Amino acid sequence: MFHYPVAITIPLVLRTLKQHHQPPKTFLHFRTPFDLLVATILSAQCTDARVNKVTEKILYPKYSAPADYAEVSLRELEHDIHSCGTYRNKAKHIQAMCKLLIARHGGEVPRAMHELVALPGVGRKTASVVLSAAFGIHEGIAVDTHVYRVAKRLGLSRGRSPEAVERDLMRGTTPQDWGTLTTLLISHGRAVCAARKRACDVCPFQKMCPSSWAEGRKDRTRQDSRSSP
Ligand code: SF4
Repeated sequence: MFHYPVAITIPLVLRTLKQHHQPPKTFLHFRTPFDLLVATILSAQCTDARVNKVTEKILYPKYSAPADYAEVSLRELEHDIHSCGTYRNKAKHIQAMCKLLIARHGGEVPRAMHELVALPGVGRKTASVVLSAAFGIHEGIAVDTHVYRVAKRLGLSRGRSPEAVERDLMRGTTPQDWGTLTTLLISHGRAVCAARKRACDVCPFQKMCPSSWAEGRKDRTRQDSRSSP
């Protein structure tokens, strides 16, 4: 049984991480909410850096509105996005999503979670990113692989699925902080608390974190890595 000198709470994590990282609202580059919706779909199982390369060099100069994506052949869209991985599914989803946006929403991105998740290829994580970064609407926390890992290692959640971790994080803070908490946990996961090598010796949580190897503790994510996003 560990005894920690200071209890780790989500407000403490927020305060501490704000002193160490200054992340943007989202790591994906976009001009409009629609761009962000497409970029977030492309970011599934792909790095943000790769998506930014594809959107800025290939997609944004060529496509601006849902009709642009809906009118090209599926083959052409697959070719344009192929380096983002799982490109066949992603191209199919993007075209279907664009057709539905035109048919149901006049080509505009809806501003409600239930309307966004009804679009092909759009899950709760994608919808949370778009609502928060494009509209400043906070309806959820986008639990990606970094958010999941860091939240579990810090003991902010014992959840065994992204949905359970999201619920714990939402309970522990106010909606205004959900977007910031997401990007701060991602920044910390990339820079310090990496998947393969956690740099506990330089981490501000090294003394209090229940997964700190610097204090002889085991990685809390080890036991349930199969359920991580
Ligand atoms: S102390 Fe180690 S395991 Fe805990 S958050 Fe920092 S880097 Fe991650």
